[in-house]
Amino acid sequence: MTIKAVRGTRDLLPPETALWNRVEQTAREVFALYNFSEIRTPIFEDTQLFARGVGEATDIVSKEMYTWEDRARAQSEKAQSLTLRPENTAGVVRAYIEHRLWEGPGLQKLYYIGAQFRRERPQKGRYRQFYQIGAEVIGPPTAGSESPVRDAEVLQMLVMLLNRLEIKDWTLQLNSVGSPSSRPAFNDALRKALNGVVDRMCVDCQRRAVTNPLRVFDCKVPEDQPIIEKLPRISGFLDEADRKHFDQVQEILRATGVPFLINDRLVRGLDYYTRTAFEFTQGSLGAQNALLGGGRYDGLSEALGGPRAPGIGFAIGEDRFVMALAPTSGTHVPELVPQAYVAPLGEGMNVAAAKLASELRSAGLRVEFGDESFRLKKSFETAEKLGIQKVIIIGEDETKSGEYSVKDLKTGEQQKMCISEIVERNRRR
Ligand code: AMP
Repeated sequence: MTIKAVRGTRDLLPPETALWNRVEQTAREVFALYNFSEIRTPIFEDTQLFARGVGEATDIVSKEMYTWEDRARAQSEKAQSLTLRPENTAGVVRAYIEHRLWEGPGLQKLYYIGAQFRRERPQKGRYRQFYQIGAEVIGPPTAGSESPVRDAEVLQMLVMLLNRLEIKDWTLQLNSVGSPSSRPAFNDALRKALNGVVDRMCVDCQRRAVTNPLRVFDCKVPEDQPIIEKLPRISGFLDEADRKHFDQVQEILRATGVPFLINDRLVRGLDYYTRTAFEFTQGSLGAQNALLGGGRYDGLSEALGGPRAPGIGFAIGEDRFVMALAPTSGTHVPELVPQAYVAPLGEGMNVAAAKLASELRSAGLRVEFGDESFRLKKSFETAEKLGIQKVIIIGEDETKSGEYSVKDLKTGEQQKMCISEIVERNRRR
């Protein structure tokens, strides 16, 4: 039996990988304009990080994590529970605390690009290994980390990225999920409202109603939706400070021309969010229509044992960005066709061919080469299949004279040239 990629994982192959690189390159450029720098955190972490950071009651932690007991090194040692990261914000905040990044000047503006892992039901746009590009702004309140200008800044940055990638027809949905001070009253109201109806809801909602009623809004079960529609919304429970914060975010977005829709059902599937929560969706993506999501997490650092460090961030589903790009860019993937094919002419020419190819590559040409066992006809055919126009023939005479026969497969012309001429002509092209 042949071995296949594990369910929910996939290989990314060329030429599509060029699209992935384009997304990542563009993100790096845009993030740099907003003064973000890259952070890379480990792919696995202590399970407690996600239990405490993302929240025990979330679907991610309760159902979707790849967790295992690491082998204890000594008998006296307890096996450590480890988890493949299901998201990257908790890891970034752990690193912020561990390396005392709050001691740095101003705010920390960090971005990451990498694989995340969730045991979800695989479908189009949803994988068990998927890729996120995310960014976080975090720091002490004295550095302005709580300010609504930060919320608006990351949203503007996202709009710039979407524009540069020419991803169109997106909708920005915005909500405020309040802060710990406004949450208890809302939770009480929600529990009360759920009291009479929860028996008619799905098992997940029955669990959520007990552990963390806000999570009921994550429910996707169609039969539960009419019930959820009638539940109280967090928007009715925001305190004065939350409301003012949310108003200012909206005011800046309006002033800077960022269109948005208020969706007071949007709570996002992670417990750490406070105040601003947002999602960019695109209808053409189908059922998995969220391009990216994010929000504020003012209490996360403290929940992980760190100092007070409000923050805001987002995670882009890179798989979905690439899907959104594909319809327009699929045919424009820059096909990187080699500029020349080196054809060794007969036995004993491999060394000279390898040397020539290496010299041309050092001079900046994309080069492919054949093998001395190939007849010239086969070299031409191979070059043609690869879409290469110029074939450089290298035999005994050529190595002696330093002049190579260069055949243009399109025009059929053949010319003698030395290395510097070949390089020069390709540069001009
Ligand atoms: P989250 O970390 O849940 O806030 O998700 C942020 C973004 O990551 C979503 O909007 C999706 O675009 C993407 N995403 C989340 N889960 C998956 C998945 N299983 N497969 C592909 N993309 C995902």
